[in-house]
Amino acid sequence: MTMNVHGYAAHSADSDLVPFRFERRDPRPDDVVIEILYCGVCHSDIHSARNDWHGSQYPLVPGHEIIGRVTVVGPKVTRFKVGDHVGVGCMVDSCRQCQPCEAGLEQYCEQGMTLTYNSIDRHDHRPTYGGYSDHIVVSERFVLKIPAGMDLKGAAPLLCAGITTYSPLRHWNVGPGSQVAVIGLGGLGHMALKLAKAMGAQVSLFTRSPGKGKDARRLGADQIVLSTDAAQMAAVAGKFDLIIDTVPNVHDINPYVSTLALDGALVLVGYLGPLEEMLNTVPLILGRKAVAGSVIGGLPETQEMLDFCARHGITADIEVINMQDINKAYERMLKSDVKYRFVIDMASLPA
Ligand code: NAP
Ligand code: ZN
Repeated sequence: MTMNVHGYAAHSADSDLVPFRFERRDPRPDDVVIEILYCGVCHSDIHSARNDWHGSQYPLVPGHEIIGRVTVVGPKVTRFKVGDHVGVGCMVDSCRQCQPCEAGLEQYCEQGMTLTYNSIDRHDHRPTYGGYSDHIVVSERFVLKIPAGMDLKGAAPLLCAGITTYSPLRHWNVGPGSQVAVIGLGGLGHMALKLAKAMGAQVSLFTRSPGKGKDARRLGADQIVLSTDAAQMAAVAGKFDLIIDTVPNVHDINPYVSTLALDGALVLVGYLGPLEEMLNTVPLILGRKAVAGSVIGGLPETQEMLDFCARHGITADIEVINMQDINKAYERMLKSDVKYRFVIDMASLPA
């Protein structure tokens, strides 16, 4: 027996998402079945639905910021019971044996992680489908505990936007005294501001949107730099220890490299692909600066991030939408018009 599931899918790169029925596997011994309550809307969902990365397989059910309630547990499940509030992020499996997997860095699995959607399951070789749906079946190793009392809607974006920004902040040892800047105030950017502030850093925002300054201050920014204003850019030359770049599109990073301090690093988490303009190595060499990248975070660190957020009273700033409004939400995100993450209320899916 398999489970019939309702969801929303893209059927091609240039069509709207529409209702879609499909099957989920029966739980394996180590699986939990999760009734999905909320799912955040990540810019990666748009990249995938529209085949921006050239690997999309259709039908494609996006969604990797999943919050739900456990309804069934397999016989070998030890960490969860029916009724628990849980989360699922961007990956649902990995080889579990290589050195990165052993170290809890499953996102860097040498055989490649199994993504929550648009991947092939390692066991039954069927496509994975994401969280824009009413149920999902996931091995318990890839399921997170949602801390008691945390707002469930606001917790959904932590599963991708939260961990994707938390992981580089931790890897580059951000703490009191650090000068951190964030490029782009969207879903990832607003989490980066909150998390960096909670870690004790001095926090700045680079934005192209003059209207976002007031929100940015509320979210934790001590300083706003309008990246289109050369004088404002020059005023922060050599300032930052760490810059987290969340811009989803190709862009010139050279002006931002100039704002790194000695030993500073600019970490790309948004755009995937060759940069334009070309990277000028002169400031890197003369300032021992680094340009780096980072993808999501492993399971132990994702749980650490959720617990950190619970301790600091952090969740995402969200706009709750019905599943039926997803195509409008994509259009608004493409115009940088979201404060600061859409979250789908799965109760809006027809039964
Ligand atoms: P988002 O909510 O759409 O926010 C992106 C922000 O970037 C915008 O609000 C805008 O901020 C700025 N921006 C957009 N286009 C720009 C351009 N052409 N030049 C300069 N700034 C621009 O997106 P998101 O969900 O935060 O995702 C951001 C990127 O991260 C996406 O590419 C997504 O696929 C990727 N991602 C990566 C990982 C990972 O593990 N590495 C995980 C999740 C997502 P301002 O208005 O403030 O300028
Ligand atoms: Zn994402």
